[in-house]
Amino acid sequence: MSWHILGAGSLGGLWAARLFRAGTPVRLIFRDRLRLAQYRTAGGLSLREGEQDSLYPLPAETPQDASPIRRLLVTCKAYDAENAVAAVASRLVPGAEVVLLQNGIGSQERVIERIPRARCILASSTEGAFRESGFKIVQAGKGHTWLGDPIHPEHTPDWLGELNEAGIPVQWTADIQSQLWRKLAINCAINPLTVLYNCRNGELNAHAHEINKITNELGRLLKAVEHEDLAPGLQEAVLAVIDATADNTSSMLQDVIYGRRTEISFLLGYALQEAQRHGLILETLEQLYRRLRDHLETHGLPVD
Ligand code: NAP
Repeated sequence: MSWHILGAGSLGGLWAARLFRAGTPVRLIFRDRLRLAQYRTAGGLSLREGEQDSLYPLPAETPQDASPIRRLLVTCKAYDAENAVAAVASRLVPGAEVVLLQNGIGSQERVIERIPRARCILASSTEGAFRESGFKIVQAGKGHTWLGDPIHPEHTPDWLGELNEAGIPVQWTADIQSQLWRKLAINCAINPLTVLYNCRNGELNAHAHEINKITNELGRLLKAVEHEDLAPGLQEAVLAVIDATADNTSSMLQDVIYGRRTEISFLLGYALQEAQRHGLILETLEQLYRRLRDHLETHGLPVD
């Protein structure tokens, strides 16, 4: 059965190239004919892993193609996912499986509402990739991806082995929401500060007091959204990630450096929306969000 990849950028390209070379049928869906033509001119997707560069001539199409879609991997940014999926919704067969690989929380719900007859599987990934240029993808770091279905958590898909065999390390979890909240909380504690201080992750050790205040409020939020088990170890988890990724530039800071829209609405924005829904006032996080939005505005970037 064929995989369709909607959002053939960094992470989508990384998945697609590995599936293709493992012999799994896979097709890329580009946003329009112009992008498809540019891809064809490039001759395929190129992937660099370590010192090794390889070109993979994957078949590709646009959303207007008529063929049915049974397995769809959505690797657009969180703010693009809903519209991108809407453009292919009529091609999804009943019971199609749709894997949503967006950072943060909030975009997944919007996609699920658009395609009620599909089975949506949520994903949280620690893999790293970036685009050097149009269709040239660089694997930046090894990691793995948790997958789960909040509605049918016990129903493990039969294609997990196929992904692992293709060199895409995946693991099923019965509690994907917990994974997503854990990653969101860690991201909210690290990424905005790296943007505001324009620093690598490791340099945040100089801001331990601020991190302490932020993680305390995030802990209160985790309790309110019924993930209280994540609250007690949060600060240690954040400090461990800062140490383990000390030389890294966070994805949010990279977006700002390259003048790209960030995903803040699905990270800190979503956290504060949930706080408000639960009647929580989180002053440090609200102030952090204001500072971050001001910073983005000053740099001419969208504040959502
Ligand atoms: P990316 O490199 O910007 O790729 C996103 C792709 O989506 C682009 O190729 C874009 O096409 C495409 N797209 C947008 N709208 C579309 C539409 N309507 N139809 C078809 N394609 C469309 O982003 P990414 O870094 O792979 O990130 C994807 C998601 O994974 C994000 O939520 C990110 O936070 C998460 N994530 C990424 C990494 C990583 O290392 N990259 C790691 C973990 C999680 P154009 O090229 O035409 O703009």
